[in-house]
Amino acid sequence: MDVIRLLPDSVANQIAAGEVIQRPASCLKELVENSLDAGATRIQIIVRDAGRTLLQVIDNGQGMSETDARMAFERHATSKIREAADLFNLRTMGFRGEALPSICAVAQVEVLTRRAEDEVGTLLEIHGSQVVRQEPATCPVGTNMKVKNLFFNIPVRRKFLKTDQTELRNLLSEFYRIVLVWPQVQFTFVHNDEIMHELPEASFKQRIEQVFGKPGKPTFTLNLVDIHTETELVTIRGLVGKPEAAGRGARQYFFVNGRFMRHPYFHKAVMTAYTNLLTGDQEPSYFICMEVNPENIDVNIHPTKTEIKFQDEQPIFQILLATVREALGKFNVAPSLDFDREGYVEMPTPNASSTYRPANRLPIQVDTSYNPFTRTHERPVAAPANWQSLYEPQLPQEEKDKPTIPSDIYQYHGRYLLVPSSEGLMFVDQHRAHTHVLYKTYIDQLSHGQAPVQQLLFPEVLDLSADDMLLFATIAEDLRHIGFDIEQLGPRQYSISGVPSLLSGQDPISTLQHILSSVRETGTTATDVWRRRIALALAADTAIPYGKTLTPAEKEDLISQLFHQSDYRYTEDGKTIISVLTDEELEGKF
Ligand code: ADP
Ligand code: MG
Repeated sequence: MDVIRLLPDSVANQIAAGEVIQRPASCLKELVENSLDAGATRIQIIVRDAGRTLLQVIDNGQGMSETDARMAFERHATSKIREAADLFNLRTMGFRGEALPSICAVAQVEVLTRRAEDEVGTLLEIHGSQVVRQEPATCPVGTNMKVKNLFFNIPVRRKFLKTDQTELRNLLSEFYRIVLVWPQVQFTFVHNDEIMHELPEASFKQRIEQVFGKPGKPTFTLNLVDIHTETELVTIRGLVGKPEAAGRGARQYFFVNGRFMRHPYFHKAVMTAYTNLLTGDQEPSYFICMEVNPENIDVNIHPTKTEIKFQDEQPIFQILLATVREALGKFNVAPSLDFDREGYVEMPTPNASSTYRPANRLPIQVDTSYNPFTRTHERPVAAPANWQSLYEPQLPQEEKDKPTIPSDIYQYHGRYLLVPSSEGLMFVDQHRAHTHVLYKTYIDQLSHGQAPVQQLLFPEVLDLSADDMLLFATIAEDLRHIGFDIEQLGPRQYSISGVPSLLSGQDPISTLQHILSSVRETGTTATDVWRRRIALALAADTAIPYGKTLTPAEKEDLISQLFHQSDYRYTEDGKTIISVLTDEELEGKF
């Protein structure tokens, strides 16, 4: 007996939907791209419950005829390409004819559409691939597509959706990837009756400000400079961040031929242009649009994937690098500071402790009586015996091997503590050492939820962009655990009335932005990953800075606290804390 059968279309479409429509955000992307392909100049997005119950896209594009409206939901039905050769000259966002059949296989879809040349339009309703209604209807020119109850017939997929906050953030980040590169189109985004974005027609730069600026303050784009190059291979236009604005909420976007892409290799080109201009783990914002001949990129991209293959990656890398470098030079944005090679924090002049301020911060006065150790002192630090043995690599670290801390620690260049050991002379990076110690403390506080709070005399207000607001709400509880006294003030505002006590005297807004951007970078929703980022960002901001002269007691305390950690050689993000000059190496020099 023959056993092979063709799958019914409805089943095939459900399977395809598994790839194309993974979550509300992918559905939104497909709908909006269709509207753009239809030549819309105005697109409204209406969302309920982060897209679970409703995703609606209303456009003023060319609309569909009655037959086309029906055809559009058939597999591989597309008006955009006719033959294989068209694939190499793509100018539309879609071309596979897969999205609508996939969406209607896993949702209840209602379309209302009319072309300018038709008097009446069409209403079509499809539930799980079954047409349940088709009739003439009066409606404006364009298409109004409602996708209701996504995954209503696939409980497993529904279960895999994340919290509304996360799905909404996914929707917004998909939305940004589109609206940034289509500034000539007007967009609105409404969630549960709240207008989250209202974007009138704009220039590219204005659109960036509309999306990422804070209400009432056009400041985001002030920190960007224009780039522009035209070569035979590629046209590059866009904006890149001034180095001094890096690190606090970097937004990074590449587009090719009007389509968002990820491109780690080109990212490297941009970062290379910033060599020696950035400190530490900071990253600049950039918004870079490339135009290339469609023949020279691989268009057959998976609908949900954003990696794009270029034929001429290496020359484009060079062109991009030169373009960004030139722009940074031309605007003379390179600060005339000395930067440490590894790019950690600017090297201070010795004894600059009273005027030191961390890079990219608001000016602050350093309280010279500030003792960075008082807070982390909770655990009594007994000076243990034979601590040197810790530095013989093979020896396991055990309680009985507690080290003795020498009292003759020398501070070199306001940066390294020189500690003699049986292995040789140790150079301990003071900032990293303290960051590491604080990191452990904060991680503890995050899981046990009790941190000392320093109330502020004058509460501060933190203004947030729409997507950051969602992220912030998600981590707000963690921030409270770690010592921030915060309350939501308005739809995009928090008040800060207290801060972790180690942070007092510093700018809490800047630290919260730092935390926010390091959490955002992870792109994950795993709480433990977030917490590590939060703890690390706060630790870096509260640790003893370079240039701070330490008293003998402080030096001892720091070294002792460091050596109490089970892992004290590297920071959480893998930076070297201790480097040893062995006796042999030293003797070799004479
Ligand atoms: P693709 O976009 O790859 O062609 P889709 O399944 O997304 O495939 O859409 C199928 C077809 O339906 C499109 O080719 C287009 O002709 C039509 N269509 C979809 N959405 C719209 C819209 N908003 N306005 C006009 N036509 C549309
Ligand atoms: Mg499409």
